[in-house]
Amino acid sequence: MAKLRTQYLPFSQPLLGDEEIDAVVDCLRSGWLTSGQKVAEFERDFAAYIGCAHALAVNSCTSALHLALEAVGVGPGDEVITSPMTFAATAAVIEHLGGRPVLVDCDASTLNLDPSQLAARITSRTKAIVPVHFAGQPCDMDAILALARPSGVAVVEDAAHALPARCRGRMIGTLGDITCFSFYATKNVTTGEGGMAVTNEETYMHRMRVMHLKYNLTDFAASIGIQQLRRCDTFHARRRLIARQYTEAFAGLRGLRVPAVQDECGHAWHLYVIQLEPEALTLDRDGFIRRLQAMNIGVSVHFIPLHVHPYYRSKYGYQATDFPNAYAAYQRIVSLPLYPKMTDADVHDVITAVRSLVEAHQR
Ligand SMILES: *Cc1c(COP(=O)(O)O)cnc(C)c1O
Repeated sequence: MAKLRTQYLPFSQPLLGDEEIDAVVDCLRSGWLTSGQKVAEFERDFAAYIGCAHALAVNSCTSALHLALEAVGVGPGDEVITSPMTFAATAAVIEHLGGRPVLVDCDASTLNLDPSQLAARITSRTKAIVPVHFAGQPCDMDAILALARPSGVAVVEDAAHALPARCRGRMIGTLGDITCFSFYATKNVTTGEGGMAVTNEETYMHRMRVMHLKYNLTDFAASIGIQQLRRCDTFHARRRLIARQYTEAFAGLRGLRVPAVQDECGHAWHLYVIQLEPEALTLDRDGFIRRLQAMNIGVSVHFIPLHVHPYYRSKYGYQATDFPNAYAAYQRIVSLPLYPKMTDADVHDVITAVRSLVEAHQR
């Protein structure tokens, strides 16, 4: 197929303006570079935005997850339940604390942890559950909390994708015991590298503050974050609009499934993940990606399920089919570009490329 674009459309790009640039320059001129007033201001702004009591800024979401799990008491021999459909860091911090990640398969349509499979995996050794709000769509927090609370199991949310997200109208960051956000360059709000742990529990925040000194965020990164957070709602509106345009354009296209959305307005729309239907197409997922790349459209796959990673496969003896929903999804998923810096023409090009590819390969 002919090249649709002369310029490659990256899978993701941050939207940074004069606000961020001026804020960084001001910070550098101030002479204060390490964690200081700007970090404190970013934490206050973030807590106010989420509507939670406490926020701790750190250098990554991975660090935030590490501090959060340590604060709720995860240690050697403890089990921590999470979903296989996540980034490696979610389980790496559990391993790092000497715990055992216990995987619960995801729902086949939302790709979020399936709460109906959760009860059977809670044991006397379960210390915490780490729900991952896949693509920015909140997990069923009511169901998860209803199982966790009576058993004294802590809930630490991996909300790396979920800013801003709402579960039945309530802001993600106000529901579980501790919630962790990411400000990595591809995330909805960025500081280059960075993260935030939020909680309403003073004791958890105290413990995390004591332990976080190797994980400081710099004041110049926080200066970017302060400006980005102010634009979070504008960014979100643009993400929602692009997602809606994709869904309208792909509805009814045989061989392609659009994301299953429970509450369009509570979805943070970090990722737009389509699922290809191999039985309806003459092209597999990798072939689809190669052809989109050749058409100058950057795409990605979120995620290689944890149990397919060689480390977990060999350590716990997993078979690919142990988590059939995650594994089946893995062979079908493609993440399309979705970010506020995209122009209308970029969105149009992605739609044209995806539609023409699918239509040319329908069985
Ligand atoms: C990006 C990401 C993380 C890690 O975030 P960092 O800030 O890069 O440490 C954790 N979990 C998920 C689901 C992510 O996508």
